[in-house]
Amino acid sequence: YADTRGPAKGGIRFHPDVSRAEVMALAFWMTIKCAVANLPYGGGKGGVICNPKELSHAEMERISRGFMRSIAHVVGIDVDVPAPDVYTNATVMAWMMEEYSSIVGHREPGVITGKPIALGGSLGRNDATARGGFYQIEELAEIKSLDRAKTTIAIHGFGNAGQYFAHLAADAGYKVVAACDSRGGVYDENGLDVATLIETKNSKGRVQGQGKEISGDDLLHLDVDLLVPAALENTITMDNQEGVKAKYILELANGPLTNDADDALADRGVVAIPDILANAGGVTVSYYEWTQNKTGFYWELEDVHQKLRTKMAKEFRAVWDLGEQKSITLRTAAYAIALDRLAEAHEATGTADDFAR
Ligand code: GLU
Repeated sequence: YADTRGPAKGGIRFHPDVSRAEVMALAFWMTIKCAVANLPYGGGKGGVICNPKELSHAEMERISRGFMRSIAHVVGIDVDVPAPDVYTNATVMAWMMEEYSSIVGHREPGVITGKPIALGGSLGRNDATARGGFYQIEELAEIKSLDRAKTTIAIHGFGNAGQYFAHLAADAGYKVVAACDSRGGVYDENGLDVATLIETKNSKGRVQGQGKEISGDDLLHLDVDLLVPAALENTITMDNQEGVKAKYILELANGPLTNDADDALADRGVVAIPDILANAGGVTVSYYEWTQNKTGFYWELEDVHQKLRTKMAKEFRAVWDLGEQKSITLRTAAYAIALDRLAEAHEATGTADDFAR
């Protein structure tokens, strides 16, 4: 939890592997991410150890409301503003907002983002994480003069971010050749039928039904131009990094590369667009949602898309240019920019805190 640049911001994760250490790492990344995206926020995160795949709708509601009851005294529209993360969604945000509102005695939509449109959500929040990453790939394509039809993409993780990214990329003419979820995936060198794959995943719960069946590790080792880890932390480690052949990696997940694997890939010249930049589209549109909740004035979808595109292009170029200028990785460049912005805010707050201690 850090609030030097503004209220803490970050998602709430429901997952069996949630731990205190993980939540702290994720909150740290949110602090940096909000600075990279230049949003007036610090970073925070929340988590509940549970397995939504085994819970009924009513159980999910009870956990969501119970969790909000226990954190209501530490969150707030100008204090800490949660959002969705792995296995939480707009419905969960609605329950939590409603619960919080009943505790404080008035409706407070801006206490949480990623809500359903009917309860103060923003248009364009649902695909914002993927879209933010997609706009950055469009910038990369321009810088590197990539031919979309010849640019092959493999997506590791087929939840919200992975599915929307596949859809946006395929729609724009890129060649999505592989996708997988935790149970395995499919590969077709001529390109997948993404719309059908999304339908299959959502009706059958699995990525299957076309191309050749492959494992998650096989997918990481495909000879593609762009690899998109879109699941959880520590997907690419020292045990499997050697086989990675992609030229570019777009980290739609948080922390998908371990530090040593990241170094090894960078040494081999693989360009990774780091999570704190690559997936910042989600929290950026969360910021737009919060702004709309505060003002009560709701935007058209085109406004959201246009503002997101402008921001992603600007911050991507800033990181890219610093990387080129100093011959450093995009991750180092993104951290440098974030730390500069945090230091500036810290300096501007003055010294009262230092003397109080
Ligand atoms: N959970 C998302 C992330 O890791 C979104 C956070 C937010 O919208 O506040 O960036």
